[in-house]
Amino acid sequence: MLDGLDFEAWLDLEGVDYRVTTGKSGRELNIRHCPMCGGDSWKVYFNPMRGQGVCFHGSHPQDKQYNVFRFLQAFTDKRGRELADYIEQVSLELGYMPKVKTEIKSDVNLLQEIRLPASLHISREMETLPEYLLNRGLSKTLCEYFDLRWSESGVHVFWDSEAQEGKTQDFSKRVMIPVYDLEGKLATFQGRDVTGEARRKYLFPQTLSASGRYLYNGHNAVGKETVIVGEGAFDVIGVKRALLSEPTLFPFVEPIGTFGMHLSGGLEESAQDQIGAFLKLKAKGLKNIVLMWDTEQKTIPVVIASAKKLIGCGFNVRIAALGEDEDPGEAPPEKIIAAYYRAKKFDNQLAMMLKLKGWSAIRN
Ligand SMILES: [Zn+2]
Repeated sequence: MLDGLDFEAWLDLEGVDYRVTTGKSGRELNIRHCPMCGGDSWKVYFNPMRGQGVCFHGSHPQDKQYNVFRFLQAFTDKRGRELADYIEQVSLELGYMPKVKTEIKSDVNLLQEIRLPASLHISREMETLPEYLLNRGLSKTLCEYFDLRWSESGVHVFWDSEAQEGKTQDFSKRVMIPVYDLEGKLATFQGRDVTGEARRKYLFPQTLSASGRYLYNGHNAVGKETVIVGEGAFDVIGVKRALLSEPTLFPFVEPIGTFGMHLSGGLEESAQDQIGAFLKLKAKGLKNIVLMWDTEQKTIPVVIASAKKLIGCGFNVRIAALGEDEDPGEAPPEKIIAAYYRAKKFDNQLAMMLKLKGWSAIRN
């Protein structure tokens, strides 16, 4: 039964103080208290994948090695039958199951009636990722999931009905970000500049519908119970990357983007808009919305207005806050996950606290 026990989930269950770090061999758990020697100064390091750990405390007895069994034994101070019963009980509590595999694949069949500017499909047609994406910690898996393209010199061609002539828009040296509607039909796209020299960081195609009418990655949120809402596409990708490190969350939680903090819609019934898309997701099982937007003082009224709109749609709304100057597109996965768990339920009282104390109302 120990093989099926998720050690990290067990630490959470027992309220053990630990922090997640990245060691030489990947994810490592740094535990405050050593149950064997009693050392209390963060000297235990545990590798959850290998199920082994070690205590570096000076007064630790000869054998410093831990495995999951030895840790549970020392922690509970139980032996034999009593220990076996304990392990059985916590395993049941944690839902005895093999680890969920952290592989993601979108099941939505994507349709593209409109044309993207000539570009390479990054995960399928390029050997290595553009440096901009590597620097942001993206993988081929993520590029595939979000269907990202690289435009070396692509152009968007459109008909200018006022001038009565064909025109072109240059999308050179940009990461192409397709935006799909909930049915997986290509609605529009964005091009993100990677040179740092372009006049506009994000370029939108003229004559196609505004991206602000769609929920970015909404097609992958159909049927999910919880969404984490970011602003731009790279915020959404950053949250997805963080969720990959949390096998307990990622089958149920999907990040989506609203291209800004204002939610479009709510007035015209038939219009294609974001509130309409949220309501469609609700009909497919969406219950919880966690807003993880920019945390500047001036954004608070907009966040409150949007949260109220979503409450009005019948969702449970929580507000998350990363640190100052952090956004989900660049923050380390641990911080995004921590902010997700620290998110506070939105109600009138929290709205008042936000107005009074600013973002520290969420952070503390
Ligand atoms: Zn120790």
